[in-house]
Amino acid sequence: MLLFTPGPTPVPESVRQAMATPTLHHRTPEFEAIFKEARERLLSLLGMDECVMIASSGTGAMQACMLNLCEKKALTINAGKFGERFGKIADAVGKGKIELCYEWNTPASVEDVEKALQENKDIDAIFIQVCESAGGLRHPVEAIAKCAKEINPQIMIVADGITAVGVEKIDVTHIDALVTGSQKALMLPPGLAMIGLSGKAVEKIGKGKDYYFNLATEIKNQQKNTTAWTAATTLIVGLNAIFDEIDKEGIDALYEATAKRSKATQAALEAIGFTMYPKIPALSMSTVFDEDAETIRKLLKTKYGVNMAGGQDHLKGKIFRINQMGLIPVYESAWVVNAIELALDELGKRTFDGTASRVFSETYFKV
Ligand SMILES: *Cc1c(COP(=O)(O)O)cnc(C)c1O
Repeated sequence: MLLFTPGPTPVPESVRQAMATPTLHHRTPEFEAIFKEARERLLSLLGMDECVMIASSGTGAMQACMLNLCEKKALTINAGKFGERFGKIADAVGKGKIELCYEWNTPASVEDVEKALQENKDIDAIFIQVCESAGGLRHPVEAIAKCAKEINPQIMIVADGITAVGVEKIDVTHIDALVTGSQKALMLPPGLAMIGLSGKAVEKIGKGKDYYFNLATEIKNQQKNTTAWTAATTLIVGLNAIFDEIDKEGIDALYEATAKRSKATQAALEAIGFTMYPKIPALSMSTVFDEDAETIRKLLKTKYGVNMAGGQDHLKGKIFRINQMGLIPVYESAWVVNAIELALDELGKRTFDGTASRVFSETYFKV
C-alpha cells in the first residue's frame, strides 16, 4: 500500500535502519555529538537564529509557542482544524484571543489582520499556519508577517510550518517562530517537534514560561547540545539520517521536485475534470473537492493500493488530499493520478483514456 496521506509520510529504509541501532544514553558525549550535528542541520534548514527540538507531536510545539511568546493577547487565524487548534490552545492555557475565521478554502487576508491589530492594540502575537492542512491551503504568511511588523515591530509571528518546512523555502525575514514536526516533510516517525526562533523571540522568551515547555530552559541546554529532559534520541538519530538522504541531491532539488510533482498532480486532476479545493493550493498536498471523494478514496485503498487522506468536520467525505511532502518517487505520484482516473471510470463518471497519466508526465517531464 502506498502511503499518500499528508502526514504521517513513509519513512525511508535508510532512516529506519539508522534508528534500529542500539539506544544511546542521552547524557553522553556520543549522543551530544549527534545532537550537535542535528541541531546545526536543522538551523540551516529553518534559516533562523536559534532552534529547539522537543519530544512531543507538533501540537506540543504550537502550545510551547503560545506559552512562551504570547503575554497579552493572541491573534489566531482559523481556516481549518489546525488554525482552530491555536485558538483552542489559547483558551486552554488561559490567554485572551481574537480569532479570524475563514472558510477552509480561503486564505487569510492581510487587510483583516491589519484591522484586527489596529482595533486590538494588546495583541502581541499572531498564530498562523503556513499551510493549513485541513484544506491544503497556503496562507500569505510572509505578507501578513511583514504588515504586522510595520504596525507593531514588537509583535511575535508564530508560523506553523509543519506542512511547509522541507516543502518549500520559506521567507523567515518577519517570522519569529517556525514550528515543524517529524512526521510530515521530514519523513520520520511522529514524536519530535522542532521550533526555529528569531533573536527577538529568544529575547521575549526571557526566563521562559511553563515547566515541560519552558523554552528558555531548552535553549540554554540545547546550545550546549543537550536537552532539558530526556531527548527523543532515536528520532534525533533519524533526523540526521533523513538529512543525509535529502543531501544526496540537496534541499533545493527536493523543493524543486516537490513543486513539480504538485504542479503535475494538479494539472492531471484538472484534466480529468476535478477542481482543486483551496483558492491558493499549498505545495505540500493536492486537495480536491468532489461529492464522491469518499467512494474514490475507498476504491483507491481497496483496489489500487493507495492510501490518501479524506476531510474532517464539514468536509468529511467531500475532499481527498494527496501527499506531496518528502522524497517521493515520481512514478508513485504518477500511479496515484492514474488510479484516480481508473476509479472515475469504475464509477461511471468518465471513460478511462489515460489522460491523467499523460498530463502528469507531460507537465512533470516536458516543461
Ligand atoms: C500535522 C499538523 C500539525 C501537528 O499535529 P500533531 O498531530 O500534533 O503532530 C500541526 N499543524 C499542521 C498544519 C499539521 O499539518
